Amino acid sequence: MPTHCPECESELVRLEGEVALRCINPKCPAQIREGLIHFVSRTAMNIDGLGEKVISQLFSKKLIKDVADLYKLTEEQLLGLERMGEKSVTNLLLAIEASKANSLEKLLFGLGIRHVGAKAAKTLAQQFECMERLALASTDELLAINEIGEKMAESIVAYFEKEEAQQLVAELSGAGVNMDYKGAKRVSAEESDSFFAGKTVVLTGKLEVLSRNDAKEKIEVLGGNVAGSVSKKTDLVIAGSDAGSKLAKAQELGIEIWNEERLIEELNK
Ligand SMILES: [Zn+2]
Repeated sequence: MPTHCPECESELVRLEGEVALRCINPKCPAQIREGLIHFVSRTAMNIDGLGEKVISQLFSKKLIKDVADLYKLTEEQLLGLERMGEKSVTNLLLAIEASKANSLEKLLFGLGIRHVGAKAAKTLAQQFECMERLALASTDELLAINEIGEKMAESIVAYFEKEEAQQLVAELSGAGVNMDYKGAKRVSAEESDSFFAGKTVVLTGKLEVLSRNDAKEKIEVLGGNVAGSVSKKTDLVIAGSDAGSKLAKAQELGIEIWNEERLIEELNK
């Protein structure tokens, strides 16, 4: 087991609840590089053409030191990299430009705030609607949201309290990166008069018309909650074709079961 980071030689620490040792030096080149790779990944900002090799080159040539620097890259700089022709440079610059228009959750996930996965990022974006409001949220406000636990709430507050984080967000905003949620707005259960308001729904099996994500989003927008597993708290199970153990469990617990057609009918009311 190494005791020090091979890249920056800081002492490695074991964070609470984790097995692996980690380098927690925020200036560690390995950390920053990993952060960049995460930032451009598909679920995050989805910048095509920025693979690990390109990032490593940009990094070692000191063309980027953080994610905001991606938005300052020029054609000339990119053409100077190994195996980057004019066509790939043009496409990469377009992909970087296009990423500025992403909805808030992609940026939020991309920032790599500890404990904030893609799903939580979506919930936060829907709830706060813009980066500024989220950055000012208190632990209590965050904890009032169903899916946000203590660890995550604390991590979010700690992140936005850091001056470096505030600077980074300001820089991204200054570069024209969108800071607003652009998806469907979530209605709270109290505000919604939909059948789904306040209900916990589980999707299982293969849906023919709606994608799983589509269905989930539509139910959530109407004030429902979509959960991953069937329990006594489940109000409704939507069963597509080849539904397996979740359907069986729902039957065992006597939970209401719908097919996709019935779901679409209710969604369209
Ligand atoms: Zn390190």
